[in-house]
Amino acid sequence: MSNSWQSRLCELPVETVRDCLLCEGARGMPDPRWREYLNLVSPFDVLRCPACSLRWLSPRPSAEGYVQLYTDAMYFGGDGASPADYESSVKARVDYMRARIARLEHAAGKEGPLSILDYGAATGDFVRAGLDAGHDCIGIELSEDARAAAKQKNGVTLLSIDGVGGMVESQFDAIHMNHVLEHMPDPLAHARWCARILKPGGLFVLEVPQQFDNDLDRLRRTLSIGGKLSRFDAYSLHHTYFFTPSTAATLLAEAGFSVLSLSTFNSNKTPFWPFSPKNYVLRLLLGMADRLHAGGNIIEVLAQKESCVTSLRAGEVSVS
Ligand SMILES: [Zn+2]
Repeated sequence: MSNSWQSRLCELPVETVRDCLLCEGARGMPDPRWREYLNLVSPFDVLRCPACSLRWLSPRPSAEGYVQLYTDAMYFGGDGASPADYESSVKARVDYMRARIARLEHAAGKEGPLSILDYGAATGDFVRAGLDAGHDCIGIELSEDARAAAKQKNGVTLLSIDGVGGMVESQFDAIHMNHVLEHMPDPLAHARWCARILKPGGLFVLEVPQQFDNDLDRLRRTLSIGGKLSRFDAYSLHHTYFFTPSTAATLLAEAGFSVLSLSTFNSNKTPFWPFSPKNYVLRLLLGMADRLHAGGNIIEVLAQKESCVTSLRAGEVSVS
């Protein structure tokens, strides 16, 4: 390993997750193709469930390993850090979140403000959009740096993970999770917790990437112009699970939700205006991929809490 920051990634404390989260007794098998897509190096690997095709990182950083990965030095700054365009991508998110609030209002179909939780609120764009629309909207964010940015940029105070303790069963009309679940060590436990704190019939809006399994990445790989990570870095390790429409829907059903709608493309991500040739092509390609075989680059689900979930015992689901 030539670069010291890559060596540091390899020295993170790791853990192994052998069994599928969704299938009792199913053991994951190594997936060399995905190891290659992520540019993984030892000790890291990807496993795939032979029963349901869920994929996950294993060995992966342990809880302490992820704390180290998400430090500013390793993730947001320095030579080896991944998201060089993180700031610019944040700007485009504001309109996207406003559109999402509007869709949520339509789906809820009730008058007056909604109580909404943004779980994994990043720099507070969704919470800001919710408050601006007159809703009772709060957010939880693990990263202290992101919470500080939310305050400075959006004027919103996000809760740390300690804020979870004050939440009660059936508190919220809606929960929003945008590109969060795929980072979690146990996404099923978190989805179950969301079901508990939603009111009966409450709405869950989930978006995760459909990483590598989409037509855009397939095309890039065919043309040898990408479609996989260009090198081993923090981005190779930050997703614990890799969902497909089918495995995302299964996870939500396991957690006590009915799926109302699922899409693998959202045209608000590639706006027509200001006109951009790139967005025009992406809209055509991904829109068609979604319609033909759910081959778009995201998985966006609107789900509703089933009424029986209220019978879960207190303390059964933790969010540690
Ligand atoms: Zn499985």
